[in-house]
Formats: sequence, structure tokens, C-alpha cells
Amino acid sequence: MTNPLGGLMSASTPLGASLPDPGGVPAIRVFPSEAPVRPERDFVLHWMVASRRTSANPTLERSLAWARALGKPLLVLEPLRVAYPHASDRFHRFVVEGMADQARAFAAAGITYHPWVERGEGDGSGLLESLAARACVVVTDDYPCFFIPRMQAAAEQRLDVLLERVDGNGLLPRAAADRAHGTAHSLRRFLQKELPPHLEERAALSPLDARPDLPPAQIPPEVLSRWPAVSREELADSAWIGELPIDHAVGPVELRGGQQAALAHMETFLAERFPRYADSRNHPEDPVTSGLSPWLHFGHLSSTELFERIVTLEDWNPGFLGSKTDGSRRGWWGMSEAAEGFLDQLITWRELGFNLCSLVEDYDQYCTLPEWARRTLDEHRADEREHCYSLEEFEEGRTHDPLWNAAQHQLREHGMIHNYLRMLWGKKVLHWSASPEEAYATLLHLNNKYALDGRDPNSYCAISWIFGRFDRAWGPERPIFGKIRYMSSENTARKVRVRGYIREHSG
Ligand SMILES: Cc1cc2nc3c(=O)[nH]c(=O)nc-3n(C[C@H](O)[C@H](O)[C@H](O)COP(=O)(O)OP(=O)(O)OC[C@H]3O[C@@H](n4cnc5c(N)ncnc54)[C@H](O)[C@@H]3O)c2cc1C
Repeated sequence: MTNPLGGLMSASTPLGASLPDPGGVPAIRVFPSEAPVRPERDFVLHWMVASRRTSANPTLERSLAWARALGKPLLVLEPLRVAYPHASDRFHRFVVEGMADQARAFAAAGITYHPWVERGEGDGSGLLESLAARACVVVTDDYPCFFIPRMQAAAEQRLDVLLERVDGNGLLPRAAADRAHGTAHSLRRFLQKELPPHLEERAALSPLDARPDLPPAQIPPEVLSRWPAVSREELADSAWIGELPIDHAVGPVELRGGQQAALAHMETFLAERFPRYADSRNHPEDPVTSGLSPWLHFGHLSSTELFERIVTLEDWNPGFLGSKTDGSRRGWWGMSEAAEGFLDQLITWRELGFNLCSLVEDYDQYCTLPEWARRTLDEHRADEREHCYSLEEFEEGRTHDPLWNAAQHQLREHGMIHNYLRMLWGKKVLHWSASPEEAYATLLHLNNKYALDGRDPNSYCAISWIFGRFDRAWGPERPIFGKIRYMSSENTARKVRVRGYIREHSG
């Protein structure tokens, strides 16, 4: 049985006749390699690269299911390399703070956890292979973008043991999508019909509660000496990150990484801002949105946990689902306006990014934008540009527009831009660049270099939205934009208050 993303469903996994599938997660979330299980080896290896958490984590459920089925202990490896694009103090510190939470949770559960941070480029070569040589099976996180698919495909070629990627990305398994959806409306209509059975099979909130009673895994001494774990002291004080060969100009921000901070932030949002989400989510001076995208990006929080909290808060009756299948946003869930609005972002828009990166090859390339969008931008390629800035001018927030500069300063200094202004920020880069291709490259660079939530399916989805993906043609046709939806700072300032925002982020 083949699933639409090319993985094999459990019935034909290469387990051998005597090894039944260990279960733990729905088969549609599992993408196995062709290599065999090696039951005679020492432990089950969980290679944690995207779902960096111990709660609501299908990859962890699968690893534990393997440990239980084979009667072998679990070893969790959470590595962090220095040479991935845009590696900086900002992202490293966020991940290391997450490791500190992980270390506590796995220690309490009696599971061996090996957090490892590369100190010099290339030091990590051989670590995965050395542990996999002792592993019965390697279980890792499926993730459809950035360097992760490439890294995992290369690992799959090298390992002589079954490597399973497990999709813990969203509420809809990636492989359940019927096609690449061209609009949010189209995906929403699909979700309204197809999501309900997957909601019933959603991840367990506390997979460690159901762990098998097994002794801790032993890390081979030669691995420990060559690739020692980040120490408890280093997890408590991450100043040493300043010595790593990464970009120190992109500094840490005030937000703390990790599951604990994510859950605290989620509770504050739900108690204080969520009730106003429907009315006020576009106001940058009084932000009521969740601000949770950094933790969602690093896998410290899952959309399942957010969904669970909201259905509890709303005292939701799941029987309501299915009564609306026309793709419209309102009245889908039978919840309050705030909940309906929030879930539409968290589910429809967020899953649209995963759908894009899963099913559109070269999802990050300008050439994959819809044909009508490329044509209209091409027709206006030669239009006169009153303002035209270089990457450096954009990066340093040196345009003529104080609102744009403020948004860029917020991104540089705090690693985020309020959602409403992020749309304006993107549209103006298109307006003030020498060509649409240059604008596209500038936006990907700035977003992925500075945004805590960058390098994510939502990055590629939302940046391509600036250039017409998931949108329709708009009139009147304008210079430079053609039929692409236009935004201006003047209009934005008429719709939402921005003076205080500009003062706060004036650089
Ligand atoms: C030019 C541009 C670049 C963007 N780059 C990114 C990015 O790199 N990473 C990223 O996660 N989002 C990106 N977005 C989408 C959106 O701006 C952020 O998801 C949102 O601002 C995050 O803030 P929040 O967590 O407070 O959102 P909330 O309003 O609280 O929404 C909850 C969650 O829903 C999801 N979500 C909300 N809005 C969107 C959206 N428009 N598209 C997709 N998912 C959404 C996010 O996971 C978000 O955390 C970008 C938008 C634009 C216009």
C-alpha cells in the first residue's frame, strides 16, 4: 500500500514476518526506508530534529511503541549543527533552552537523552551513523522543508537499519491531502470533509505516561567521548553559544525557547488575549494574537496541544463537525468567533504551508508561483520605480517609509513582525525592488535570517502569497504590481493605529 507522498504504509514495511508493526501512530504518518529492523541490536534511536518536545509528539509515540515491541530501551538524540543556513545566536539559544526542558522531562521518565551541539563545522559527521550502528530502528521527525528532507534522504542512503520519518507536523497528516491546494478556501473545504477522522486519531498529550518499563539505554563510550552531551551547566547558562562559529550579529531575543515557556505563553494568551482575537487581531499596537509561531516552528509546541486547550475552553461538541463543508470560514467548528478565527489560522493557513512544501517541488522558487501572477509581474517589470532599495538598505531599515523601517527593526531586534504589518512589509519589498525575483530573494533572506519562526513551511507559503499565490487577481491594475494585491502604508495607517508602533521600533 503506497501513500501519496511516496512512503509505504505499515502493511509493507520491511519488518520481516515475525515482527508486527508496533503501531503507536496512524500508518499514514509513517514513512519508512527500505532497510530492515535489527532486533538483535541495543536500543531504539529517536533522532529528534523538528518535533523538539515530549508532549503531543507522534514521533515519540512511535519510538516508544518500537521500544515496547522490541523490549529495547530508547535513546533520544537531539543534535544541533552549526553549518545550517542562517545559524545564529538567536536560533541556537532558542533550541538549547528547549534542550534544557527536554533533559528534565526525559530524566524524570528514566529515558536516555543525548543533547548534542556541534562546536566546529563538520564535528558532527559520523555521530548519527555511530549510534545507528547500535540501533534496532531509527525513528525521526518528518518535516517537508529547509535542509531537513535533504539531510534525511542522505542519512537514509547511509544507514543499514530501518529509518522511519514520522509526521507530527499538524492535525492533518501530510499524506492525507489529495493535492496541492491553490487557495485557503479550497484546502478549508477539503479539511471540513476529511479532517474529522484524523482529529479522532490525534496525538496523545503525554506519550511518556505510557512508556514501557525498560532500563535506560547505554550510550557507547566511544560516542560519549567524541560527541559529549551538552552538560547540565551549559544547558542552564547558554553564554558559551557566543563562542560557536555561527552568526553572532543576529542576537538572542527576550523570548525563551522550550516547552515550558511555550505552554506558559499559550496559557497567558488564552486567558488574556484570546477572547479579543476576532475583533482585534490586526492591531499592531495592542497585539492580541498568540505570538506562538516561534515555538510552533521549533516544535516546542504542537498545534494538537493548542487545539486540545481550545476545545476544552469552548466545551466543544465534536458532533457539530461535518455540518459545514462549503469552504467558508465562519461556523465551521460551532465555536465562539474568537475560536473559529484562531483555528482557521492554526489549521487552514498553517496546514496550507505544509501542503505546499509537501506537494510542490521547488516550493521555495519564484518559478513555482501561479502562471497568472508571474505573467502580470512580468508585464510590469519595466515600470518606473520611484524607490528602489538594495538588500543592505532593506536589511538596515533605511527606506523612506518610517512604518516599513519600524517593522524591519522589530524583525531584526525581536525576531518577529506583527502579522498585519508583515503583509505590508512583504508587499513594499515587491514595490521597491529592481525586479520581482530580487524582491522574492530579499524577502526569503530577511525572513529566514531574522524571524524566529522563519525557515518554516509558513515562511514559503506566506512569502509567495505576497506575489499572488493563494490569492486572486485584483483591480485596478497598478504599476509594478499589475494584478497582484496591493498594500500601502498610508492605507494601513488609516485602518490600524501605528504611531506608537513606529515610536517603539524606530531603531
Ligand atoms: C511576508 C510574510 C512572511 C511570513 N513568514 C512566516 C514565517 O516565517 N513563519 C510563520 O510561522 N508564519 C509566517 N507568516 C504568517 C504569519 O504572519 C505568522 O504565522 C503569524 O504572524 C504568527 O503570529 P502569531 O503566532 O501571533 O499568530 P496567530 O494569529 O496567533 O495564529 C496562530 C498560528 O496560526 C498560524 N498562522 C497565523 N497566521 C498565519 C498565516 N497567515 N499563514 C500561515 N500560518 C499562519 C501560525 O502558526 C500562528 O502561530 C508570514 C506572513 C507574511 C505576510
